[in-house]
Amino acid sequence: MAFNIPFDNSYVTLPDRFYTRLDPTPVKAPELLRFNAALAGDLGITAGSDVEMARVFAGNDIPAGAAPLAQAYAGHQFGNYNPRLGDGRANLLGEVNTPNGRFDIQLKGTGPTPYSRSGDGRAWLGPVLREYVVSEAMHAMGIPTTRALAAVTTGEDIWRETALPGAILTRVARSHIRVGTFQYFAAKQDKAALQTLTDYAIARHFPQAQGPLEFLVAVIDRQAKLIAHWMSVGFIHGVMNTDNTQIAGETIDYGPCAFMDVYHPVTVFSSIDRQGRYAFDNQEKIIVWNMAQLANSLLLIMPDLDKGVADFTTAIEAMPAKIHAHWCKLYRAKIGLATDQNSDVELINDLLKLMADNGADFTNTFRALGRDDAAENFIDRDGYDAWRTRWQARLQNETNPAATMNAANPAYIPRNHRIEIMIEAAVAGDFAPFNRLLRVLATPFSDQADADDLRMPPKGDEVVQQTFCGT
Ligand code: AMP
Ligand code: MG
Repeated sequence: MAFNIPFDNSYVTLPDRFYTRLDPTPVKAPELLRFNAALAGDLGITAGSDVEMARVFAGNDIPAGAAPLAQAYAGHQFGNYNPRLGDGRANLLGEVNTPNGRFDIQLKGTGPTPYSRSGDGRAWLGPVLREYVVSEAMHAMGIPTTRALAAVTTGEDIWRETALPGAILTRVARSHIRVGTFQYFAAKQDKAALQTLTDYAIARHFPQAQGPLEFLVAVIDRQAKLIAHWMSVGFIHGVMNTDNTQIAGETIDYGPCAFMDVYHPVTVFSSIDRQGRYAFDNQEKIIVWNMAQLANSLLLIMPDLDKGVADFTTAIEAMPAKIHAHWCKLYRAKIGLATDQNSDVELINDLLKLMADNGADFTNTFRALGRDDAAENFIDRDGYDAWRTRWQARLQNETNPAATMNAANPAYIPRNHRIEIMIEAAVAGDFAPFNRLLRVLATPFSDQADADDLRMPPKGDEVVQQTFCGT
């Protein structure tokens, strides 16, 4: 059977000012690095030859039914409003409609668009492989995320202080509508467009929602769950700008993201986050701020402004408690609790405090709880033992706490230093570490033979101090 993507496009039917129609800029020598056959199957895509797929996923061939475009959006970047961002290096090929919902198929790294500003519209191999591995790992951990359908190299050099191999990622998302998409039209006072966008987003993502208020609450609920999920696995997004906050509630835009090794609540990795705005434990505050920006935009289409302000304020103020409720549920499971007692939060926080004080590895400490073998992660053994005694007493009420913990605490995460090793190898032409990471991280909750090295925290000289944006 011939290569086929059963496109069924809807965004392109929206008014012209929502996007710019344009084709990707062809590249010199596309080569297929990886194709996600399982995901393709779920999307109803029929695979083709490597050569055919490389040309399509590089943007050199436009497949039948595609209607390539770059989306317009704005956003607050590190708190500063930018009225015009948009897809500066991405091309939405189109959408597929599946029994599991509608999905965008987008190429990232396809050359300049009217939204590129001073950028080259390209991506290099490192960030493409990082996004591939981390997004697929997030999915395997059960965390809502965009997915990776394919990666290609372009045969072209990209200039990033030095010459680096160019690559393109094919990203799959429930949509690419962001908080910043709403801000784009609200800032222009374009009521008609904002109404059209809201109606479209409701129909596509929250068909049960009636009007902007219910829509806002539905987005808040998704984001509350998402951020609690991040907090439960030690994930730091790194650039939680409003243009990187997606309405459907998926993790999107894996730039300078990272998983913590040693637990510390104020961990920051991103080299551009000098103030620690997007530090680990600030994420739950920033998402509320981002939702307030969405609310602000939606006010433009509220018939009664005062009532809109009052209702939206109530919705925003309810968000921290929602995040906390998800957080409690997820962290209870991490220490083996399926039941609910008031004192659990204190028990969890006391463990986290001990971990921070002892420089304990986040992932390995929680994973070891399932074997009741966590003591070695603590220098202050007495402190841990005292906590363990309280914990063991609490576990008496639980039926199978080890199973609860092993399903909540991944054994493997895409550790930063492993990503760096993988990228270095790939640049030298060796994709074995990339393929191996993908294989092991596909089942992160199962202990796997021959993968103990992937559990190890970085040695002194392997510690990654900073991560850089994928631009
Ligand atoms: P990000 O930080 O990746 O979320 O990107 C923020 C904005 O910068 C978006 O509008 C991107 O499309 C744009 N951008 C990022 N990298 C590039 C690039 N290499 N060329 C053009 N635009 C880019
Ligand atoms: Mg972005």
